[in-house]
Amino acid sequence: MTTRDDCLGRDAADPLAALRARFALPDGVVYLDGNSLGALPVATVARVRDVVADEWGVGLIGSWNSAGWMDLPRRVGDKIARLVGAGPGELTVADSTSVNLYKVLHAALDLARAGAPQRTAILTERGNFPTDLYIADSVARARGCELRVAGGDRLAAHLDDHVAVQLLTHVDYRTGRVHRMDARNIAAHAAGALAVWDLSHSAGALPVNLAGSGPLVEAADFAVGCGYKYLNGGPGAPAFVWAHPRHVARMDALGVRQPLSGWLSHAAPFAFADDYHPAAGIARFGCGTPPVLSLVALECGVDTVLAAEPLGGIEALRAKSLALTDLLIALVDERCAGHGLVLQTPRDPRRRGSQVSLAHPEGGYAIVQALLARGVVGDFRAPDLVRFGIAPLYVRHVDVWDAVEALRQVLVSGEWRDPRYARRAAVT
Ligand SMILES: *Cc1c(COP(=O)(O)O)cnc(C)c1O
Repeated sequence: MTTRDDCLGRDAADPLAALRARFALPDGVVYLDGNSLGALPVATVARVRDVVADEWGVGLIGSWNSAGWMDLPRRVGDKIARLVGAGPGELTVADSTSVNLYKVLHAALDLARAGAPQRTAILTERGNFPTDLYIADSVARARGCELRVAGGDRLAAHLDDHVAVQLLTHVDYRTGRVHRMDARNIAAHAAGALAVWDLSHSAGALPVNLAGSGPLVEAADFAVGCGYKYLNGGPGAPAFVWAHPRHVARMDALGVRQPLSGWLSHAAPFAFADDYHPAAGIARFGCGTPPVLSLVALECGVDTVLAAEPLGGIEALRAKSLALTDLLIALVDERCAGHGLVLQTPRDPRRRGSQVSLAHPEGGYAIVQALLARGVVGDFRAPDLVRFGIAPLYVRHVDVWDAVEALRQVLVSGEWRDPRYARRAAVT
């Protein structure tokens, strides 16, 4: 049996423990929802205040040049690239994940169908994050294509020579299952399709190797992902977009564009020309004016992840994340058995992202509410999931212990059955 003291001991020995001090976490709260909204970095408060008061207030419009505002999408993009296995200049920050997915799917369809017009399908996974399904559906409709939605174990069977693009989310938001990116890329390419990835629940939590560096690793083709989850960029933070450099070159060669050709994705926006010419490189996946305040907050968030680099970087964060999710699963097994919780997250650590999801057919929502009342913040995902996100930058072993103890008490006492915990808020 693991005790609370064991957990305190593991925290004392944790080489990443000091990173937690970079976050302004409220007292008395166990925060296990960093996969929905990352915690506030201490540095963000002063940085955003300075940008508002000095760069905007005093520098005014001159700050676009003097404070490097125009360079932010590239600068923050280069930092995120280090976390997802992409090279400098290959990744940019713009818009939302939903919007970036729209751009990428259109461009990927054009590239995959050049010389192969019979490829008329986008293949994705049943249960993918709703915005991914909805955007893929819109793109398919706009392009007269078919959207194929297959179960995760049936994807290979649906990869035929009609598929142009395979769109997958790396870590499933419900269960936390991880796709083997390399194997999925190989399968897509063998079928003649392009592999597009959503990294929203991966970036900042586990290693990703987009460009396929290293022997025998198959590169991905495009990727998008979220800035406000494990990257700690703040509510509604801008998202990122990556294209393999060979596709940017093919876009040039074939005249393929991303569809939201706003002026700040132009090669020379301040020439104010009537004709559109895409910017060189990944900058063409921008659109309009960059959201400066949000970008500086995102940079502070990404910097908290990069602060792990001298301590082993994303590999060390992954090791800690798995130690914590292993602990959470073991403690639920030991201490909460017999109360109807069913683990939905893979026990195999290679198949597990940075979360643990437990189904409770009757009480999923109410259990999350009862835990909130005890200061343990997880979230509910329909239809019946209690979900705990483990952000290894700031979650401690003792937090996991305290969360499972609160869960045990909520279950043993039956307090989740109190009608006040059944009332639904707009955001779950
Ligand atoms: C969180 C998340 C998004 C969010 O998209 P927005 O455009 O920021 O609302 C998209 N896809 C996945 C897989 C996510 O987990």
